[in-house]
Amino acid sequence: MILVGAALALSLALGWAPRRLATAMHPATAVRTLVPAGLAAALTTGFALSDVALTALAHDGEVAELGHWAPAALPSATALPWQAGLPVAFAVLALLTAAAVHTLRAGHQLWLADTWCRRLGPDDGQPVVLADIEPRAFAVAGLRGRVVVTTAMVAALSTAERAALLAHERAHLRHRHHLWIQLAEVSAVANPALRRVPGVVRLMAERWADEDAALSTGDRRTTAEAIGHAALARTGPRRPTSAALAATGGDVPHRVQALLRAPRHRWSAPAAAAVALVTVSVLGLACATARSTEPVLETARSALASTR
Ligand SMILES: [Zn+2]
Repeated sequence: MILVGAALALSLALGWAPRRLATAMHPATAVRTLVPAGLAAALTTGFALSDVALTALAHDGEVAELGHWAPAALPSATALPWQAGLPVAFAVLALLTAAAVHTLRAGHQLWLADTWCRRLGPDDGQPVVLADIEPRAFAVAGLRGRVVVTTAMVAALSTAERAALLAHERAHLRHRHHLWIQLAEVSAVANPALRRVPGVVRLMAERWADEDAALSTGDRRTTAEAIGHAALARTGPRRPTSAALAATGGDVPHRVQALLRAPRHRWSAPAAAAVALVTVSVLGLACATARSTEPVLETARSALASTR
């Protein structure tokens, strides 16, 4: 029960105001902190609820028969009535199935993206320019990935802005942003308390690529103008996917404002350290719970064996 409380507290803390937490950090630190913390929150919540369900169901005669243990030898003080274990077990199973289906879908999307990258021809390290009247620029995920830009987007930007935009897209591929986003999405499917986290991770991945582009061009203003002009040129519906990250993804006004002011991430290290400390503590508690559950069942198995 302590683990359930700790895992839920971590999930709610991450899911309550992830954007406020993330913007206190450098975007790269935010992604590298929020995604592992989200995964840990999803895993420990799933494990804690499974432990509660198992501890409750273990007192049922038929379940005990399957596990070969004596229900009377199990501690009853902390266990819920065995009937309460059923909805908890079904909820864990449903969330686990949803996360597995999402992971398979995401894997398929990435495989399709990689296939498309290979169809674009040999990778010479240069962006692929597609003749298209719609201004678009995006990084397609793959083993190496490709940067794709349309002729309309090339025409919409100045030479310096184009360089900033391409540096932004290359940063997405270099830092494997599509994988970070997929991991955040899987965590949120497995643990609905984290549903706001993937959107924030997506925005932070965009900010991370913006900061990389600003460093590479040495000009924050031109990078901001490139993002702003690309977003203004972009028409039609935007449907972000994890396999193709567009230059105009996320909250563009926030990204432009962040680039126009001097970088300030005074609280980045303390905030990341606090999240990491809480996450490691909850993971440690989960390991301790796993270690304490097994001997209890072993004792109950021995108790049954001694009566036969
Ligand atoms: Zn982008």
